Amino acid sequence: MHHMDDQKYDIIVIGGGPSGMMAAGRAGEVGAKVLILEKNNRLGKKLSITGGRRCNITNAEFDNDIFIENFKDAKPFLELPLSKFSVRNTFDFFEGRGLPLMVEARKRAFPQSEKAEDVCKVLIDYIEESGNVNVKLNAEVVSLVMEDKKLVGVTTTSGTFHADKIILATGGLAAPDTGSTGEGLSMLSSIGHTVKDPDPSLVPLKSPTKWVHDLTGTTVDNVTLKFVQNDEVMHEVRGRILFTHFGISGPTVINAARIAKDLLKGGPISASIDLYPDRTFKMLDGMVRAILDRNQKKLLKGIMKELVQSKLGDTVIGLMEPGVGELKVSSVSKAQRHTLVRILKDLNFPITDTKGFAYSIVADGGVIPEEVDFESMTSKLFPNLYLIGDTININRPSGGFSLQLCWMSGWIAGTHAASRNM
Ligand SMILES: Cc1cc2nc3c(=O)[nH]c(=O)nc-3n(C[C@H](O)[C@H](O)[C@H](O)COP(=O)(O)OP(=O)(O)OC[C@H]3O[C@@H](n4cnc5c(N)ncnc54)[C@H](O)[C@@H]3O)c2cc1C
Repeated sequence: MHHMDDQKYDIIVIGGGPSGMMAAGRAGEVGAKVLILEKNNRLGKKLSITGGRRCNITNAEFDNDIFIENFKDAKPFLELPLSKFSVRNTFDFFEGRGLPLMVEARKRAFPQSEKAEDVCKVLIDYIEESGNVNVKLNAEVVSLVMEDKKLVGVTTTSGTFHADKIILATGGLAAPDTGSTGEGLSMLSSIGHTVKDPDPSLVPLKSPTKWVHDLTGTTVDNVTLKFVQNDEVMHEVRGRILFTHFGISGPTVINAARIAKDLLKGGPISASIDLYPDRTFKMLDGMVRAILDRNQKKLLKGIMKELVQSKLGDTVIGLMEPGVGELKVSSVSKAQRHTLVRILKDLNFPITDTKGFAYSIVADGGVIPEEVDFESMTSKLFPNLYLIGDTININRPSGGFSLQLCWMSGWIAGTHAASRNM
């Protein structure tokens, strides 16, 4: 038995993000003496800004087989851990602790209070309730301590601590201002783990085009977005696109950013948005003609709201020949009408880059999943080292999947590390 102020613990958790807090709380609940080391002056700094501060806590797909389809390469690794801590368990955990959840479009689950801070509170209460977990803030781990090739503790800016087991929950590289700056990953590679270099993956895309910037705040729904390179359509997705002051964003864009990034390595690309993907050119032309016929006396710019939302109407007119918006509908030529239809089906602009780490929702990179035993979340190289949350390289879409992985891996690691017979 160790006293809380001893420097020897059963378990040290490095990093007080969602995965680390879940692991520490769970290990304390099972009865282990736990020390959680966090370099910030608070726990859950990034968690508190997730989902626009509302926290998209998980994705309410309760069928594990369907849930897992959202993960491409990592699918085979996740089946087993998900059977131990599923989306259902996440709901039960938080709702059972007084945080009712609600489900929005695309099965994204949020606390009904719409406060990410409330999610932090539940976890902080969980950590405190067993009396077994000691929290040390403003404590940055600078290295792992090895003795005879065995991991025995950690060195921090405020001393060295020893433990039988170490749970590494230092996060990835997204939003570095919240504390995840990648030292955890450097420590792991220094002891022999294969760490895939982080790459901004789920990020918005940049465009230099002024009319795109001018559309800031405008969203188009149920459209297709194509990436075009050398006149060839290289990729096509469908969904909602948000125009921003730097380019385009929103889940559809963010999830396709990886492909744009790969394409950009081979040369310039452009984005092409089809605002009417379910109508052929001919069908849309018929529709536009009918609208024009009904509004012969109006100005062309005055009927655009029947085709697109207001701000976008000006954009489309602006992309046609100068002055065309002031034309009376009755004098719009067939060629001009065709130009209009073509723009509605091919709103195109160059994409020059992704927005980079600071804007990324998740940066990929981390220890390759092949080096993790997903039954216990232990490292395959060091049996008393656990890897959880964003420290593992698992690509996933946005929508609550990242946090589900944190709850799952944190709970499993906490449970396993706290069990005496390991
Ligand atoms: C703006 C934004 C919004 C997001 N929204 C959502 C969302 O709505 N839903 C969703 O599922 N996912 C979302 N994500 C992703 C999600 O936040 C991450 O997947 C999640 O936070 C990862 O948790 P983690 O515990 O692995 O690491 P982190 O949350 O990164 O926490 C790691 C912690 O370790 C600490 N640390 C790092 N190095 C050290 C060290 N050397 N010593 C001591 N402490 C250290 C850090 O300070 C940090 O507190 C969002 C991400 C961002 C950036």
